[in-house]
Amino acid sequence: MEMLQGFKFELMPNGAQERAAWQYAGNRRKTWNLLLAKQMENHAEGGKYQSSYSMNYWLTDWKEQAEFEYLNLSPSQTLQQVTKDLAAAYEKFFKKTASFPQFKKKGKCVDSFRFPQGFKIEEQNSRMFLPKLGWVRYRKSRAIIGTPKNITVSHSAGKWFASVQTQREITQPLPQASSIVGIDKGITRFATLSDGSFVAPLNSFKKHEVRLARYQRAMSRKKKFSKNWIKAKAKVTALHSRIANVRRDFLHKTTTTLSKNHAMIVVEDLKVLNMSASAKGTLDEPGRNVTQKSGLNKAILDQGWGMFDGFLSYKLIWNGGWLLKVPPHYTSQECPSCHHVSADNRQTQERFACVKCGYRNNADYVGAINILEKGKKMLEGQDTTDGSVGCESIARLVCESTGGSGTAKKPRRAAPVRGRVNGAVMPSATETRRGGKAKSSLTANL
Ligand SMILES: [Zn+2]
Repeated sequence: MEMLQGFKFELMPNGAQERAAWQYAGNRRKTWNLLLAKQMENHAEGGKYQSSYSMNYWLTDWKEQAEFEYLNLSPSQTLQQVTKDLAAAYEKFFKKTASFPQFKKKGKCVDSFRFPQGFKIEEQNSRMFLPKLGWVRYRKSRAIIGTPKNITVSHSAGKWFASVQTQREITQPLPQASSIVGIDKGITRFATLSDGSFVAPLNSFKKHEVRLARYQRAMSRKKKFSKNWIKAKAKVTALHSRIANVRRDFLHKTTTTLSKNHAMIVVEDLKVLNMSASAKGTLDEPGRNVTQKSGLNKAILDQGWGMFDGFLSYKLIWNGGWLLKVPPHYTSQECPSCHHVSADNRQTQERFACVKCGYRNNADYVGAINILEKGKKMLEGQDTTDGSVGCESIARLVCESTGGSGTAKKPRRAAPVRGRVNGAVMPSATETRRGGKAKSSLTANL
């Protein structure tokens, strides 16, 4: 199996390198905006979307014009990369997994640029060679594993970073755990599992929330663009960056534990568009006061859930498991006992009470059970009333998804997949018919 992994380091550029980096990041933003404007213009005139191939022609044109002469200061591969990035953004939009590409505003987006080739890394000397920038020193916080494929340079909270993406072959492990579990993601509980356990939200967000409000008030009292305003703004930016780090750390710890303890995890498929809708209170229909009460905490978790799924997905695959996503409809409204679906079943955020049979339980826990059931039905390929049948096929699918080579005639004997799953016994790997086609690559960002 091919694995992609990201390694991020702080760069220590000298003055000239830093000035050049700002220029490249600015040129990248300018190129993005020029390309997007031209696509939109073309569309307004009745034209079709143009591929990155055509966009590269536009780029060449602009570079020859005196007006955009400064684009030539950038390493040309960093600008060609923009056409690929915009093409990818359009593709996501066409697939309805993202909204329409936005213009990049200075100070509102991450300043970055990417080198797909021409770089060198000398780990023993803690430095990397980047085209046109030359040798740049970096803080070697860890060793790089795999073959470096590209480097993205970005600016955040006053520092420059290099993300080295590497590729390597790994043998796919057999799952160490054997259970399947559904997870409901929420606000009062970060994640509730269908086995009854849950992950509490990160409380330190509360502390940060108070501090952030204070810093923002201080900033608003200063005269815009004055020295003191710039100082206050730097404090706000630094805190935002700190919050992002704390969240990332929390998500890594949580997903590492979950992926080690379960062979298969079922979650709701929160597409980007659904996630932004959830902020308005439509997804899962949380009470209005909940949205207000949670404030920043919710905003932070909204961003966190996408990362949570991403981390969980690749860590499960690392451990030989699998993440299954199911559509999020009615998971909070269906009674797990009599299957009556009604919005009235959930009268508060915390409590679930079935209006038909009187079943009562914690609402997040009910959500997790329904998500698990949906996952089982999806695997079964439709309706099954006998839960044990569902479990067997899940076990087989877990084995298939981790079978590796695709034509495993002789499954390994010691496969530790026998175990109890939600009341049913899983067949061991030796009982399964064949190894399916495994997912061939995955991406990780650490
Ligand atoms: Zn009921």
